[in-house]
Order: sequence, then structure tokens, then C-alpha cells
Amino acid sequence: MSIDRTDLVRKAFVKKAPAVEIPEEKISEYFAERVFDRAKMRKYLDPETLQALFECIDEGKPLDRKTADGVARGMKEWALEHHVTHVTHWFQPLTEGTAEKHDSFIDMDGHGGVIESFDGKALVQQEPDASSFPNGGIRATFEARGYTAWDPMSPVFIQWDTLCIPTVFIAYTGEALDYKTPLKRSIKAISDAALPIVRLFDPEASKVQCNLGWEQEYFLVDEDLYAARPDLMITGRTLMGHMSSKSQQLDDHYFAAIPARVAAFMRELEVESLRLGIPLKTRHNEVAPNQFEMAPIFGEANLSNDQNQLVMNLMHDVAHRHGFVVLLHEKPFDGINGSGKHCNWSLGTDTGRMLMAPGRDPEGNLLFLTFFVNVLKAVQRHNSVLKASIASATNAHRLGGNEAPPAIISAFLGRTMTAVLHKILEVPSDTPIQIAGKKGRSVGLIEIPEIFVDNTDRNRTSPFAFTGNRFEFRAVGSSANCAGALTTLNAAVAEQLLDFKQALDRELAAGKTLQVAVMDTLKPIIASVIDVVCFDGNGYSAEWQQEALRRGLDVETRVPEMFKAFTRPDSVAMFTRTGVYTEKELLARNEVKWDTYIKKVQIESRVMARMAVNHIIPAALEYKTLLLKEVALHQQVFGNQDECRTELDMVHRISAYIEEVSDRAEAMRQNRKRANAIEAEYEKAVAYYGIAQEINALRKPIDNLEELVDNKLWPLPKYRELLFIS
Ligand code: ADP
Ligand code: MG
Repeated sequence: MSIDRTDLVRKAFVKKAPAVEIPEEKISEYFAERVFDRAKMRKYLDPETLQALFECIDEGKPLDRKTADGVARGMKEWALEHHVTHVTHWFQPLTEGTAEKHDSFIDMDGHGGVIESFDGKALVQQEPDASSFPNGGIRATFEARGYTAWDPMSPVFIQWDTLCIPTVFIAYTGEALDYKTPLKRSIKAISDAALPIVRLFDPEASKVQCNLGWEQEYFLVDEDLYAARPDLMITGRTLMGHMSSKSQQLDDHYFAAIPARVAAFMRELEVESLRLGIPLKTRHNEVAPNQFEMAPIFGEANLSNDQNQLVMNLMHDVAHRHGFVVLLHEKPFDGINGSGKHCNWSLGTDTGRMLMAPGRDPEGNLLFLTFFVNVLKAVQRHNSVLKASIASATNAHRLGGNEAPPAIISAFLGRTMTAVLHKILEVPSDTPIQIAGKKGRSVGLIEIPEIFVDNTDRNRTSPFAFTGNRFEFRAVGSSANCAGALTTLNAAVAEQLLDFKQALDRELAAGKTLQVAVMDTLKPIIASVIDVVCFDGNGYSAEWQQEALRRGLDVETRVPEMFKAFTRPDSVAMFTRTGVYTEKELLARNEVKWDTYIKKVQIESRVMARMAVNHIIPAALEYKTLLLKEVALHQQVFGNQDECRTELDMVHRISAYIEEVSDRAEAMRQNRKRANAIEAEYEKAVAYYGIAQEINALRKPIDNLEELVDNKLWPLPKYRELLFIS
């Protein structure tokens, strides 16, 4: 029995939004109600435990067993009040998703009954049977077990009936097996490297915090239409589908009124997120039809990233209740915009200074410039590995796709900051850096306009843009764990700050004032970056590819090749010096990256070939038969084929496309067989890169057939149906 596509589409079109329960209280009253935050800690922990826990969170002091038991006791009490029955360590293995294994609170009471129990040991450490998580060979032997350990920096939360404990996931031999561990190491590395510099300006500062504000883009598709597309279901993207006559060319979706069904979904998602302490702030329609975005208020990077992971899970659950499926794939539809995850990144001190924004006085401005310039230098030195950090089989469809950042990492500064940097190179090193407007204009001053934050250009073609008080890493994929990119960025900046401090110390030792020493150290760095990594032009243009190559930036577009940057000597030196990754971890992670790349392409290739043979060719043959029958009938009645030119022409074209589909699918199968025989992950990934190109090529005749074949016979929901129903 074939599916009636028209019926499916009609039913999807008339669906109404389910009623959403909106809390009667104000947001501030239910925000974080399901989080064991400081307020709950104060309420449920005894004073001694509370103090020890705060010292652990704020000062990084180790947690002893007694404190852990005390914390567990309080958490259990709170959890039971919320009808919680289970507990899980919640972690982020290298699968790009989270993992959890629930255990009930119950224990035998020794009298044939059960009691609820939860102690410090269960809170702090678990040993999940994790042998099937990707580890790149680190856990190849059965002795090499892994364990999860509580991350007290990210508060425990309740989801459904389960107490979720954010944890790191490490091998017994100490290597990180997850995203969180290296992220935490990188956050420490950047604080350690930044603090000695900050303290020259602000002796009160004792900590530098790394901030993340993510913007999550996604598509929504009606679930009944989704279920009729094996490619969407299995790979998260459409492997075929002719462009809709109307897509995004009228720019009528971006910021348009949010459709009612979508608004209901967003509302419910927001309420759930707010209860979990995720401060969602912004929601809007994105550029492509059925594409949307949300963003929270930024926060400490480790926590903010956990919240992003949590939201990505929540989205799927909530969408289901609204008859939608969320697509987090970077390029679910060809020919229209894909989805990214802008990572807004900045540093701040515990004394309230934002290090990526101009200060209140010349000193503050100098501190800002110090960090600003060193970030640029770090991005320049490690542009290859930064690109590798956002590269994946799925993001590959987006990068360079003429709507997303190109596969070249450069930094956008905006007119103001470009002018400031040029000016610095010209003036004497003791020139104070003033904020124009406060002190008026006077020749010789380096001026940063006061309305700066609102004044930055909006160049959407840059992968790494300065936006007034932060840098926005825009090349990150929508389905990615932000930690991959942030860890690399933090490590690169930390290394650069260490080098800068050494150079600065030499200038200071020569007896220069702080201002002159800083300026003298910054000047050669500025001169080295201004015409290399800094680029404000159109990143989508063909000229930029040439120009970037000339400037010595990495222009590699093949994903398996990009990963190699991680194990280059300069990258290994950067990661090991900052304590972010060991060389063994880098090697292991690359194995995982290649392996994941291979499997993703392999799955797509299989789905593509099967759909070609089981869906597309049969539909095309059915229509061809219909046409031929019509011609035969004509021949029977009129004794000739004089008026059958169109039918015959279509038959020939259909036949040619069918043959092309069949030949390409078979050739791809053969190449897959050859690739599968390759042992080494890298070489195999390179072979699969070739197969990824074949998938694209196979798509073309299929999309041409969609244009030719009778609409009634086409077995897959079309782009115009998937993209305009919500
Ligand atoms: P746009 O789409 O214009 O870039 P959005 O409002 O969608 O802006 O998102 C901006 C994101 O940047 C939000 O998550 C916001 O919290 C975050 N952000 C703002 N200031 C900073 C900062 N100093 N450091 C890190 N993130 C920031
Ligand atoms: Mg943004």
C-alpha cells in the first residue's frame, strides 16, 4: 500500500497547536525550581557542609567524603520532596549527545523491605559500563575502565523523576573520554594565563571567568511528514529533494511573526528550560523557512554549555508533544540556509571587568586592547586547529555553503577597532587610550567611541567576529557540543597569553612603565595580525579564497584532512603546555573524529542508495510505464505516434536519469566496499570523503526525476511540503 502524500500533507497542514500550560507565577518565581542551586543548598545543607561545598565550588578545594555525604543527604531530601525516584550521572561522551544510566534510590532495608538511600559515594563517582562509548583506543583493553565524577561547578537538577548529576567522564588512567573534562581544563588554563596580566591592572582580581552565550538554530518539521522521509529519520537531513519554487528568496521568514504551532512549542520549551535554570531570553524566526533560533543570557562557559546540551535534549521531547521533529543537523535542506550555533565568547574578572569590552578609563582600555590583540594572535596562530575544532561530516555541508562562514578562519574587527589598531601602530607608546565623548577629541588620542557596542558592523560572512563586548565564533555547527570549539579557543588564547606575559615581563624588566611596556609588546603583535587573520570583507567571495591562501591561512576544505591539524607539533605543544589535552588524548580523539566521519558518511551513502533503488527508481518506472502505455494506446487507436513527442521525450529523459541513478548507486556501493577494506581510520576517512562527493552527485539525477515524475506518484514529501507547514 503506498502512502497518500496529499492526504498526509493536508492532515499536517490543519494540525492545531496543543494547549500549553503556562505557569501563573512570574518567571522569577519558578526559575531554577528544579535546580539544586545555592538557595537550595542553603536550605537543605547543614552549615558545615554548606561552607565546605562553597569552598569547593568557589575556590576549587577538594571535597572530602564527609562533606559529600552531607551534600547527598540534603539533595536526597530535596529530591524526595519532588517525587524523585532515580538518580543518574549525566555526562557528555564523544558521541555528540549526553549519556545517562538511571539507578533507583531504593536499597534493601534488611527486613524484607526497601528504603530510599543516596550517599556521598553515589554522588561523587560512578562506574558506568562505558566500553561502548567512543574512546579512540584509550579504553581498548578490558582493564582500562572509565568512571564518571561529579562536577560541583554545574548544579544538580531534576528531570522527570530523576536527579541528574553533571559529571566528567574519564578513563582510570586519567585520560578524558568526554567533552566536559577538556573544557574545564581549558577554562582553568585561560584563567591561569590571564590572571597575572589582569593583576598588573587590577590587583584585586583573583579569577578570570570564561563566558559563553550560545545561539541555537534549528528547523521544525511536522512529524508525519518526517516519518515519510527515511533520509531525515536516519541521517537527520534530506539526501534528495528538488528546491521549492519559493524558499527564502523573499526574505519573508526572518524575524517574521512566529507561527502559532511553533509559538506553542517555544513557550513550552521555555517554561521547561526556565524551571531547569536555563535563562532563555531570545526567540525568533531564522532566515530559512521553518528555521528558528533561541538564545539564553550568557553565563559561565562550563555551565552554559551543559545547559545547551540539556536544551538540545529537551527540544526533542517537547517537539514531539507538539507533533514536530526538531532538526539540529547543520544542513537538513539543500539550497537554503543551514543551522549553526554561534558561540558568543568573552572573559571577565571576579571584580566585574569585562575583558573583551573597552574599560571606563585609559587603563581599562589598555587592558581590553591587550586581550583583544592576543585573541587575534591566538586565532591566527591556530586557525587550522580552530577550524578542525568545528569540522564534522555534518557541518561540512554548511561551511563554505555561501550562507555560512567559509572554511577559512579569519577575524572580523569592524571599522572602529581596525582604525584603533592602525592608530596604535602610529602613535608613541605612552599615548593614553581614551573613550571619545568623555574627554572630547584631541589629536594623538586613540579613541574608542562610547556607543561602541551598538556600533559594530554586522558582517555575517565572518566565522569569528568581534561584536563589541565579545567574540562570536559562528562556524560552530548546530548539532555540535560547543565544548569542542571552546576548548580549542581557550587553549589557543591561554598559550598566547603565556607568551605575551613573558614578552611583557622583559619590557617591564627594562624599566618601562606598564602602559609603555604593554604598548611596546602589543605593537609587533598587531603588525603581525592586521593584514593576515583580520579580514572584514566578504567571506563568501571567491577572491577571499585566493587572498586567504596568499596570507597563509588554512584553506583546506576536506574534513578528514582538517582533523590532522590537531596533532601537528605546534598544536600538540599548545595543548600540552596549557594542560588541556595530552598527546595521547589528541591522537585518540582524532581516531574518534575520523571514525565518526566514516560512519556518518557510510550511513548516508547506504540510505541514499536504498532510497534510490527502493523509492525513486520504482516511482520513475511507474510513470515511465504510464507514458509508454499511453503511447501504445495512441498507436493502437491512430496507427501512429505522431502526437506522442512529449511523452516519448519524457520517457527518454526518465530512462536516462534512471540509468544514471542506478549506475551511480552501484559505483558508490563498490567504492564503499573498497573503503571498508581499509584498516587505518585516516585513510578510510579520506576514502569516505570521496563517497560524500558521490552522494552529492547521485542526488542530481534524483532531483531531476522529481521534476519529471507525476506528483501523485512521488513517494517522498517534497521540500515545499516539508518547509512550509508549521
Ligand atoms: P545576535 O543574534 O545579534 O548575535 P542574540 O541576542 O541572538 O544576538 O545573541 C547574543 C548572545 O550573546 C546571547 O546569548 C547573549 O547572552 C550573548 N552575549 C552577550 N554579551 C556577551 C558577552 N559579553 N559574553 C558572552 N556572551 C554574550
Ligand atoms: Mg549572534
